[in-house]
Amino acid sequence: MTRASRPDLAHGRAHTSSNGLNSSKSSVLSDSTNNHLNPSRENIVHYAGEAGPFLITCVDVEEEFNWNAPFSRHGYTTVSLRSIGVAKRIFDKFHIRPIYFVDYPVAKNDPSVAILSDILNAGEGEIGAQLHPWVNPPFDEDLTVRNSYPGNLPPWLEGAKLRLLTEIIQERFGIRPTVYKAGRYGVGENTKGMLAENGYRIDMSVRSHCDLSDDDGPDFRRITPSPYWFQHDQHRILELPLTCGYFGRLGRWGLKLQRTIDHPAARRFHVLGILSYLGLLNRATITPEGIPLREAKAVTKALHARGLKVFILAFHSPSLEPGNTPYVRNHLDLARLVEWLEEFLYFFSTDMAGQFVTPQEFLDLVSRDECA
Ligand SMILES: [Zn+2]
Repeated sequence: MTRASRPDLAHGRAHTSSNGLNSSKSSVLSDSTNNHLNPSRENIVHYAGEAGPFLITCVDVEEEFNWNAPFSRHGYTTVSLRSIGVAKRIFDKFHIRPIYFVDYPVAKNDPSVAILSDILNAGEGEIGAQLHPWVNPPFDEDLTVRNSYPGNLPPWLEGAKLRLLTEIIQERFGIRPTVYKAGRYGVGENTKGMLAENGYRIDMSVRSHCDLSDDDGPDFRRITPSPYWFQHDQHRILELPLTCGYFGRLGRWGLKLQRTIDHPAARRFHVLGILSYLGLLNRATITPEGIPLREAKAVTKALHARGLKVFILAFHSPSLEPGNTPYVRNHLDLARLVEWLEEFLYFFSTDMAGQFVTPQEFLDLVSRDECA
């Protein structure tokens, strides 16, 4: 989830860059791969295969709560998954197998587990783990905005929460999750060690080029949407950052202009807003939550033209019922979200001649490509 109180940091205008797909194959990793949050060029995944572009569809399956209220351990519901059919009809039509990022309250909830187990057993999707620390035991931290980013917690506590989350998913679904997403994209310096210890192979907690530091979250401004490797001991893990990019007539220069745009004075004078109004420069993520369809298409085309091969589409399951998230307040909003999904997926499969994959399928592709 992201907080509605900060729409600029939510699924709205996140910050991003072009990509950098010009690295060497790296089956042997250099020491620099030890750095999860400051990847070097040689760790960027270079997919040389003919296929693609690829789209990974992510549904953040989580409890419904008031996005504008302070964080609370109670007072949420877990019912909106009953409306997953609204989106699933579209996924089925395009033969898409999304990854459902389940958090602790959802894994505790019988009806939600039954719905997701049916999807899993039919081979119509995969299950990943999503950590919302404020509703994920053990509880030993104060409920603050800072502590809502799991990467800010003491390492033992972040690790203990991830262990319990991993165990409950295994217990409830009979599979051990290998794909992780930190709630609020709250990944920290210690996260990679915990991922390795718990057997995770893919992380999707990085929100490329987005700066969450105003809110005590991570600063991802230097990270592009290109996938990359990082390592802890002998465990090599694939990072798949949330796609975010620049487009418009100056789109190619977005990364170079980023420091200027994000300068406090520039933010104060809404420099990006003005450039965007003039059609010169804009940036967007790929989500039906707060991003117009034409912007999602434009950013996909622009990043693909610059060499990006894999794209991530994400939204929250509570958005499938009106009134739960700031993006879907009524039935008209919901109809628009559904239409957005259908049109974007159609665009990706036809105009982009793209393919739909799961994170694990992309990892397999990349690993095979390296051996070739
Ligand atoms: Zn979330």
